[in-house]
Amino acid sequence: MNTWIDVPTNSDFSIYNLPYGVFLRDDKLTPGVAIGDSIIDLNACAKVGLFADLGFETSVFESDVLNDFIACGKSAWSALRAYLTAQLTVVGTLYEFREKVIVNRLGAKMCMPVKVGDYTDFYSSIEHATNVGKMFRPDNPLLPNWKHIPVGYHGRASSIVVSGTPITRPSGQMMPPDATAPIFGKSKRMDLELEMAFIIGKPNALGEPVDIDNAEDHIFGKVVFNDWSARDIQKWEYVPLGPFLGKNFGSSISPWIVTMEALEPFRCESVKQDPEVLPYLQYSGNKNFDINLEVGLTPEGDEETTIAESNFKYMYWNMAQQLTHHTVNGCNLNVGDMMASGTISGKEKGSFGSMLELSWGGKETIELNNGKTRTFIDDGDTITIRAWCEKDGKRVGFGECSGKILP
Ligand code: MN
Repeated sequence: MNTWIDVPTNSDFSIYNLPYGVFLRDDKLTPGVAIGDSIIDLNACAKVGLFADLGFETSVFESDVLNDFIACGKSAWSALRAYLTAQLTVVGTLYEFREKVIVNRLGAKMCMPVKVGDYTDFYSSIEHATNVGKMFRPDNPLLPNWKHIPVGYHGRASSIVVSGTPITRPSGQMMPPDATAPIFGKSKRMDLELEMAFIIGKPNALGEPVDIDNAEDHIFGKVVFNDWSARDIQKWEYVPLGPFLGKNFGSSISPWIVTMEALEPFRCESVKQDPEVLPYLQYSGNKNFDINLEVGLTPEGDEETTIAESNFKYMYWNMAQQLTHHTVNGCNLNVGDMMASGTISGKEKGSFGSMLELSWGGKETIELNNGKTRTFIDDGDTITIRAWCEKDGKRVGFGECSGKILP
């Protein structure tokens, strides 16, 4: 497909993508769609009547988040996507209004795309669970439940921030290796977690589980997710109820939500689950997605080093299984809720999605391009995660999820 908007070669935001975000225009939070280095201002389009025939109330774009639009349902998402695809590939009404409704994306300030009511983090990469298990419990890395339930915990929604927001190194209580009593101080083991998250697009009522065959209908789209983690705080606090203050001081997301429709061409074979899972978690078809992932570490004022390369297709538990399991007890999910994958690690060392694994619990050093080394994240370091799909000359990317650690 050719579009009249200039799209640089290798842009994450090709005509096949059309992701949704919220940006600042004239000091107002405004929903938009990215293409190339441009943003289509959805509220401005609605104001001049461009979306009048799409079958949903276009005042949803007056909102400063996308929740109202997402709540309009799948038919609205598809209608808008089809309209924009058509209008970007012919010289029509969108072209006619281009000076009013299209703005430069480069330098635009991006904001949280949705109001996140609830956030859940899973633990669905078998390589990650096994690696961490080996460090914390050498004799017993993968706990007996792991291959039967997509393990997860309820996280904190209030501290999810958009890419570019700095994260302050947290203080907390920890038990140093040879100590007999805990101490209080700044975390010395600041880490990242390479994850992706999906956003709920269709709610389910309390008491009404979502069947696995319908689960993907409840997903609007995906973002890159960095679940910042303070390993020393986490290690001391996690028994017996799981992650708490070692996690909830900040999580970063990429600003553009890539829709399930845009990801459709990038489905790939699912990971074989052995032993067979219980019937409510069994599914047909391909439910994994081939999404390249990359983590960069940039010391203050220095060049970036790629410290990990992974892929979303390695996930043992897929999104449909996570969502179905989450609702199987009748738990209700709402539009805007966010479900993160858990750290995505591959089999090889260079594909591990956390510094805990890359440095094997701090025992090995990670070499940087500038000759320095790391075991965990230093103050002033910026972590940037990128994600993209590529097939048959089509590229659908997520842009960046980055954050700098402040003292
Ligand atoms: Mn996590």
